Amino acid sequence: MFSYRHAFHAGNHADVLKHSTLIALTRHLTQKDTALTVIDTHAGAGLYRLDGDYAQTSGEAAFGIGRLSDVSADSLPEMLQDYLMLIGEFNPGAAYAKSTTPKVYPGSPFILQRLLREQDRLKLFELHPTDSKALEANIAQLDADRQVAVLREDGFGCITKFLPPPSRRALLLCDPSYEIKTDYTRVASLLADGLKRFATGCYVVWHPIIPRPEAHDLPRRLRTLTNQAGKPWLHATLTVKSGKDATGLPASGMFIVNPPHTLQGALKATLPQLVELLGQDRNAAYTLESAGH
Ligand code: SAM
Repeated sequence: MFSYRHAFHAGNHADVLKHSTLIALTRHLTQKDTALTVIDTHAGAGLYRLDGDYAQTSGEAAFGIGRLSDVSADSLPEMLQDYLMLIGEFNPGAAYAKSTTPKVYPGSPFILQRLLREQDRLKLFELHPTDSKALEANIAQLDADRQVAVLREDGFGCITKFLPPPSRRALLLCDPSYEIKTDYTRVASLLADGLKRFATGCYVVWHPIIPRPEAHDLPRRLRTLTNQAGKPWLHATLTVKSGKDATGLPASGMFIVNPPHTLQGALKATLPQLVELLGQDRNAAYTLESAGH
């Protein structure tokens, strides 16, 4: 356990899908004045150097955000323009010249914090001893103690702790490393418990698409239990290469329960472009399915 370090993968194709979707839906959810509680069950270190040893060793960002940096922003759909603009805010001035991969990449905690308002709250769970320390140190620089809480605890335990929130508005991101088989079952249980306790929350699950039975079953399980709860869902997947190639992640998906009504249209405009920009072979493709809208 705990061999996964997100620093190797920051800014890769899965992060592009995950973070651009997260930005679009958080922007929508912060339009209403009522406070929003955001829970990031698997937060990671929060900030990453793409010119550092980890990212340079894997080279994954070059096939993710690096490919978007080469393109004229005006030709991109709004969701990707917004994503690049936010990443650009972490790379001011010469550090993020056009057509270069950014040097600093914000993980979900920093992306979310940037989008939240004074009245909103952010709860960050991270268990890895090194990454939780890094997260605490990174968040401390924001001087946002009232708004952001870092918990060195099991993120799967967040439901009874924070749901339902006082304002009855919440967004939960569940983005585990799926290092251990039980993560798949725990994700499904987390969503089932969340929907029982707070059925109107917006739940977002990132999942890898890899040749493993548990990974194959997870989206079906998430759909079934969301349908049983009578709630709408949206499922977007992005494949960048053949799964037969044993190296690297070929594809990933985002499963969203109670999605903002604007998200399906935004994804419809964005996913074909992601296939074109991030696709690595003829197997590159996307899917977008929904129910209950
Ligand atoms: N959400 C982050 C982002 O988008 O920037 C990336 C998170 S990374 C995929 C998953 C993280 O979960 C790793 O940093 C890992 O150490 C952490 N982790 C693993 N098991 C955990 C658990 N039970 N509770 C909280 N964090 C855990």
